Amino acid sequence: MSDCLFCKIAAGEIPSKKVYEDECCYAFYDIAPQAPTHFLVIPKAHIPSVSAVDEGNEAVVGHIFAVIAKLAKELGLESYRVVSNIGEQAGQSVFHLHFHVLSGRDMTWPPG
Ligand code: AMP
Repeated sequence: MSDCLFCKIAAGEIPSKKVYEDECCYAFYDIAPQAPTHFLVIPKAHIPSVSAVDEGNEAVVGHIFAVIAKLAKELGLESYRVVSNIGEQAGQSVFHLHFHVLSGRDMTWPPG
């Protein structure tokens, strides 16, 4: 999508600190980290949020979770949290599906 920040990051049109890339997803460090390790994993194709995942695009979500597990192992993350905010009230500010991976500090539950 032409005016989507994360589409532009995935396409390399806006700089980011890359963690990982393959044909269908891109991972990069969050610009405003909320934990000592905080990166985002996104599909390269534009999907607005989890609420737009369906039978036509669900494979990329499974792939992203496999990528998250692989990156966590490679980065030595023993404990981490994966978060996806859906909608403004839940805290979504960029409307391109993304999974936050946060690690390196104690986490509280429930999240605020
Ligand atoms: P959310 O608020 O759940 O939609 O998450 C969006 C995340 O994108 C926030 O944690 C932002 O800090 C992060 N973010 C926004 N712009 C950039 C950018 N240019 N590079 C990396 N992360 C970004």
